[in-house]
Amino acid sequence: MGGTVLRRAVKVAAAGMMHYSGMRRALATYQRIRSGGRRILIVSYHRVVSDFTGELQRSIPGLLISQETFRKHMEGARSAGYELVGIGDAVDVMSGRRAAKKDLCVVTFDDGYRDVYRYAFPILQQMGIPAIIYLPTAFVGTRRRFNHDRLFHLLRRVQQRRYRPVFDALPAPALDLLGPVHSGTKSVSAALDDFIGEYPTHVLTDIIDSLEKQLGGGPELSPEQGDVMDWDEVRRMARAGFEFGAHTQGHNVLTLEPTAVIEQEVLESKRAIEREVGGTVRDFAYCNGWYSDEIIRVLVANGFRSGVTTEDTPNRIGGDPFTLRRKVMWENFSVGVLGDYSSALTVCQLDDCFGALGMNHPVPGRRPQAMASLAQILRPEAGSSEDLP
Ligand SMILES: [Zn+2]
Repeated sequence: MGGTVLRRAVKVAAAGMMHYSGMRRALATYQRIRSGGRRILIVSYHRVVSDFTGELQRSIPGLLISQETFRKHMEGARSAGYELVGIGDAVDVMSGRRAAKKDLCVVTFDDGYRDVYRYAFPILQQMGIPAIIYLPTAFVGTRRRFNHDRLFHLLRRVQQRRYRPVFDALPAPALDLLGPVHSGTKSVSAALDDFIGEYPTHVLTDIIDSLEKQLGGGPELSPEQGDVMDWDEVRRMARAGFEFGAHTQGHNVLTLEPTAVIEQEVLESKRAIEREVGGTVRDFAYCNGWYSDEIIRVLVANGFRSGVTTEDTPNRIGGDPFTLRRKVMWENFSVGVLGDYSSALTVCQLDDCFGALGMNHPVPGRRPQAMASLAQILRPEAGSSEDLP
C-alpha cells in the first residue's frame, strides 16, 4: 500500500512539473512526430456512475468513473488540443485516406452498461462529443450479469463471510482464482483479471454455478449492480448519433475459444445490432483486449473495418486498424495524493507523458489462439459434427 501511495505521489508531482513547465507540450510534439504527424488517442471506459464512493464498495474498481470526473476528462481532452471524433474518422486518418487538422481522440465504452446511458450519454450530448459503445449482444435487454461482475460479487461474499471454500466440490481451476485471494497474495480484482484471461467462458460459468451452490444459493449471491442497456436505450442513443460496435454475444475472450465459436460470436453480435438498430456494424472490441490473427481473419472476412485492443501505446498513422491501441480509464487515473482531482495529471495521462518516459508497462494483447488447437486435438476427426457446448 505504501508503495502505491509513493508511486502516486511521484506521478502527481511529475505531472505538475511536466504540465506547468511546458514539458508536457514538448512530449506531445515528440509523440505527434513519432505517430506520423497526428496523434490518435482512443480512450476506453466501462461504467460511469453517480455515486462513485458507494459503488466502490460493491463493484470492480477499475471499471468505475464518477460522472463529474468523466466530464472533466472530456474537458481535459479538449483543453489538451484533441478533436473528439468517431471511430470511423480515426480509422480514415490512420489509413491516410483523410488528413486531420488536430490530434484526434475517440471515446469508447465497453460492455453497454446501463449507467453509461444514464450518466455519460447526457454529458456527451451536451458537449457534442461522439462515442462508440461495444455491445455483448446476448446481455442487452436481459437481467443477466457479466461473469466478471458475478465472480467479483461471489468472491467478496466469500471474503465477507470468512468462508472456506471446499475445493473438492469446485471445478479444479477454481483453485487458481480462490487460492491467491484466500492467501492474500492477490486482491480480488487482480486475481479475477488474471483468471479471466486464462480460462474460457464455460469454465467461468461452471465455477459460478458451483460456488453459488456451495454458498447456499439465493438472490443475494448475484450482483444488483452492473445492469446492461436494453434495445430501446440503445436505439435512443443511436438516433442521437452514437455508434455501436460488436463485442461478441456472450462476452467471450475469443483467443480462448475454437474457430467455430469465434465465427459465431463475431457474426451473431454484428447481426443482432444491425437487426435492432439498423445500419452496418463494422467495429469490434476484443473481450479482455486479447486478439489473434485468427480473430482478425474472421473480422476481415465479415466486413469489419476496425478492432480495438487495450494495449496502452500510441496509435501510428499507417498502423493496423485491427489492433487499435486504447487507454483504459477509470476514476483513479486522475486522482491526486489526497484523493483530490488533478487536472495536470489527467492531461499528462491523456498526452501519454508517462508512456513517453517509459513509466507505463503496457500489456500486449496479441495471444496465441490457445483453445483452437486444443479443440482440434480433442476432436481429431476434421468436420466432426459434434455440437459445441
Ligand atoms: Zn468487455
